[in-house]
Amino acid sequence: MKQQKGSGKKEEGETMEVGLLHELFPAMVELRRHLHRHPELSFREEETSAHIAERLQELGIEVSVNVGGYGVVGKIYGGLPGKTVALRADMDALPIQDEKTCDYASEQPGVMHACGHDGHTATLLAVGEYFAKTREQLRGEIRLLFQPAEEVCPGGATSMIAAGALDGVDVIYGVHLWTPLPVGTVASRPGALMASTDEFFIEMQGQGGHGGMPHKTVDSVVAASALVLQLQSVVSRSVDPLDPAVVTIGAIQGGTAQNIIADRCKLSGTVRCFEEGTRALIRQRIHALTEGTAQAYGAEAIINYMPGYPSLINHEREYERFMEAAPEVFGLHAELSTPIMPAEDFAYYVQKVPGCFMLVGAGNGQNAVYPHHHPKFDIDEQAMLHAAGLLIAMAESYSAEHA
Ligand code: MN
Repeated sequence: MKQQKGSGKKEEGETMEVGLLHELFPAMVELRRHLHRHPELSFREEETSAHIAERLQELGIEVSVNVGGYGVVGKIYGGLPGKTVALRADMDALPIQDEKTCDYASEQPGVMHACGHDGHTATLLAVGEYFAKTREQLRGEIRLLFQPAEEVCPGGATSMIAAGALDGVDVIYGVHLWTPLPVGTVASRPGALMASTDEFFIEMQGQGGHGGMPHKTVDSVVAASALVLQLQSVVSRSVDPLDPAVVTIGAIQGGTAQNIIADRCKLSGTVRCFEEGTRALIRQRIHALTEGTAQAYGAEAIINYMPGYPSLINHEREYERFMEAAPEVFGLHAELSTPIMPAEDFAYYVQKVPGCFMLVGAGNGQNAVYPHHHPKFDIDEQAMLHAAGLLIAMAESYSAEHA
């Protein structure tokens, strides 16, 4: 059972073995449920990574372990010459108590696969098995990147890249199972798909004193409150209205009692946007407003600004390939995504090599209705089959084009 690709010409290395993919689906579901029961937090994916390495070895795939932490790299060499295509899955879970009642709910208290990374890992292993079993027709190399620690900055992508995981790679693809999209729909975007994310921590230092004698103090709570309002002008007055950005102060803490003027007040917040120029502008405006406000109130401010993941920028040609390839994979409906504000450290890979990150619909109006990072989060497992088919189709299309 073969599915022909869009060129109309059926050549070696260009047809997906749909029957084989369907055969791999039950094992995909089984592995996903195993990982769902046994989630591991970022930077602690010891058992997940050992399990994956063992399975890859059983498939006769060349394996490297402990690549930039608990990263696992599998290399599949085709029978035909060609390019090197990397495919990436993240493996980490989140510090959330699973509230599902199904038989594959997390058995680890306070830890849960609430973002679908279990599904990504199971999908990529099936893709590895697919290429291992069809390697005679495969052109070049398929490189499987099982990445730890996507959920916590600095993240596993940078450490895997530093450890050489991308050396010799020509192109990279990755997927995110995505419950806001219905199963059967996939989406991506040329250019910026996901936001950059930075965090900042500010300490406003005044001079404490008696609540009844404010003239003898520098009130850090008043200065910090003024700053919260000043910072609202960054997006509304400094950033181009056509360029999406967020500045959020998520926490403010100061003082101990109603009749004491607090000598210090702490603020922390997050910055999200899509353009590097905008990111630099926001950072500069936060510094200027913080220093100016502190000075205006006679206080002093300490700013700790921590850059996180950059914006995820898909390459135009690889996005076009996605739009061409997706409809031929189980008849998936391919959409142009709007930019979305969550961040992804897949961004670092596509800074180094061309590539595309794709959202694979995993919502179904039944079990999979909750947003990502929700305590009842679940996916429609059929989405893993779509994700695997999409990754295979992208790799085969790239390899055929560059043969
Ligand atoms: Mn995620």
